[in-house]
Amino acid sequence: MTVETTSAVTDPERMHRIYRHLHTHPELSMQEHATADFIAAELDDLGIENFRCGGTGVVGVIRNGPGPVVAFRADTDGLPIAEDTGLDYASTATGTLEDGTEVPVMHGCGHDTHVTSLLTAARELLGRTGDWSGTLVLVFQPGEETAAGARAMVDDGLWDRAPRPEVVLGQHVMPARAGSVTLSHGTAMAMADALRVTLYGRQSHGSQPQSAIDPIVLGAHVIARLQTIVSRELDPRSPAVITCGTFHAGLKENIIPDRAVFTLNIRTFEQDVREQVLAAVRRVIAAEAAASNAPEPLVEEIYTFPRCYNDPDAAARVESALRAELGADNVSVGEPVMGSEDFGHLADSIGVPAVYWMFGGFAPDTGEPPVNHSPFFAPLIEPTLTTGTRAAVAAILTYLTPNP
Ligand code: ZN
Ligand code: ZN
Repeated sequence: MTVETTSAVTDPERMHRIYRHLHTHPELSMQEHATADFIAAELDDLGIENFRCGGTGVVGVIRNGPGPVVAFRADTDGLPIAEDTGLDYASTATGTLEDGTEVPVMHGCGHDTHVTSLLTAARELLGRTGDWSGTLVLVFQPGEETAAGARAMVDDGLWDRAPRPEVVLGQHVMPARAGSVTLSHGTAMAMADALRVTLYGRQSHGSQPQSAIDPIVLGAHVIARLQTIVSRELDPRSPAVITCGTFHAGLKENIIPDRAVFTLNIRTFEQDVREQVLAAVRRVIAAEAAASNAPEPLVEEIYTFPRCYNDPDAAARVESALRAELGADNVSVGEPVMGSEDFGHLADSIGVPAVYWMFGGFAPDTGEPPVNHSPFFAPLIEPTLTTGTRAAVAAILTYLTPNP
């Protein structure tokens, strides 16, 4: 037996006000200071105990008698994008990247819908504490876009300071019909690894290759050979992507430079495939450098995104709760995607199951909606926010103890 959910949000105006405020005031990853203050003030206003964690992360805890502990995560960061949606609540905010560059900032991945939905779900659940018992942990996580936030919160003692949950739940808005929800059973999103590689050569005049070790020719061989890892080494049934997104070398056509620097983005679904690909990447880079008689290259990790895996039993439980709440026509089972998320680390770090789903934010009849990270990404306020809130409430309640 599960607790019955309600089909509407009790104070939609308040929810919309929160959303517009967040959308107008986005902040860059790990710099979400005003966002954290805003979230903490909302939690204070609701009488929910809360604390800061992992820098700009905020954790709220609702203790409502004995019963299971459930955690729900909403990510809070914006992106360096100049918003071009034309909305009257569009962002004109700016921020400063780590290297000092001033950039426009936008909630271009819709994390403002996640925060709004979770704050509203908390308010809905507080309004009916007689219906359920247990503990709800609200995790407002910074820095999803840089894969820094989940790790920062866990490293700052998240699960020592908050009650340990038996499941961690989360959701993300996407370019699909508002009102609909998609979740996968098993792998939900890919692991991602980004590397920066510096190839060293020996600088010389462009007319005198006999005195040089050419890092550009070396780099060309490395990049081409890296593509054979997926095509010639992996089991074709194991998906992987190796993309070289940048390559920089040299200043003038008649100088052979002393180095070349490139970056790689690697996506995989399985841990053993990930390890196989990373080992092969390092092997190819080292072996090609040796073949060029070049010094040993430098390989540095830029970031790593953990797996995002939906425990099949937990996903089935959440799926039936979502079907009951939103209607079977509005819930579908999806395939894993090659995008990445650091959500999985919150649950994996304590060995508990996680469930993560996508909810739509766009009208179906207006053509192909802009994708996340586009300057035109503008989720409909409704029914997007009500759906995100109802989905959160329904999934949480399916784990809490119903009071008769
Ligand atoms: Zn994003
Ligand atoms: Zn996102």
